[in-house]
Amino acid sequence: MGFPDCMIDCHCHIADPQFNEDVDDVIQKAREANVKGIVAVPEFPSDFINVIAIADRYPDIILPCLGLHPVQEAKEDGKHRSVTVEEFERVVPLIEKHHGRIGGVGEVGLDFLPKFVQGENDKDAQRKVFKCQIDLAKKYDLPLNVHSRSAGKPVVAWLKEHGAEKVLLHAFDGRSAVALEGVQAGYFFSIPPCALHSPQKQKLIEVVPIDNLLLETDSPVLGPDKHIRNVPSNVVVSCDIIAKTKCMDPADVRRITSENALKLFPRLKDIIEM
Ligand SMILES: [Zn+2]
Repeated sequence: MGFPDCMIDCHCHIADPQFNEDVDDVIQKAREANVKGIVAVPEFPSDFINVIAIADRYPDIILPCLGLHPVQEAKEDGKHRSVTVEEFERVVPLIEKHHGRIGGVGEVGLDFLPKFVQGENDKDAQRKVFKCQIDLAKKYDLPLNVHSRSAGKPVVAWLKEHGAEKVLLHAFDGRSAVALEGVQAGYFFSIPPCALHSPQKQKLIEVVPIDNLLLETDSPVLGPDKHIRNVPSNVVVSCDIIAKTKCMDPADVRRITSENALKLFPRLKDIIEM
């Protein structure tokens, strides 16, 4: 039996409140666009139960991940700032509880955008939380779904230092030389639709071998038009930009990136075969 011709959105915030009104329709359009798997990631602790609930509602297309993002909302004023170790400790029982069900630990990582880090203490807290989540992934033999912003080099170094082997670097914004270090370590890179307008992302597509590339949307953000809500069916835009940049047939990009996705997220297999 040949591999099904389809696309997998390997990083998507389908539980985001922006999809509350029309999630049925968004999922239906994804199916019509030949998307057979959506890897759903939370950002805030409040998303955790929603990610699991939405995966329960669409078990034949959504694979949930759980993990704490390096940027969180302050309770006092709703402003975004670095994650704290205490916040992480509160979500550990939830990750532990669902370890047999989730497809990976994520969205986790480092975000050193100056507006989110006040100093070394914030960076330290992010590193600590990231390390604990690398350890959790290793403990349960799960892949990591990793965010890195203004922190490409520290993220790759930290992953390697702590022995992470199954890694997706989503929307990677680091330099090509650093990306290639990730490739050497066997890491995968997922390409969002905004690559259409990003010379940096197109360079990333050029340097990373097709065997290390995946498709993603990061919906509702990182769409082909930044003023319009992004949706999982837009993985076709990612697929096309990879095909164009690498001078490949889009059908080959669909096949290879789907095979890559199954290698990294083996639990997708149960979903696709449903
Ligand atoms: Zn994300």
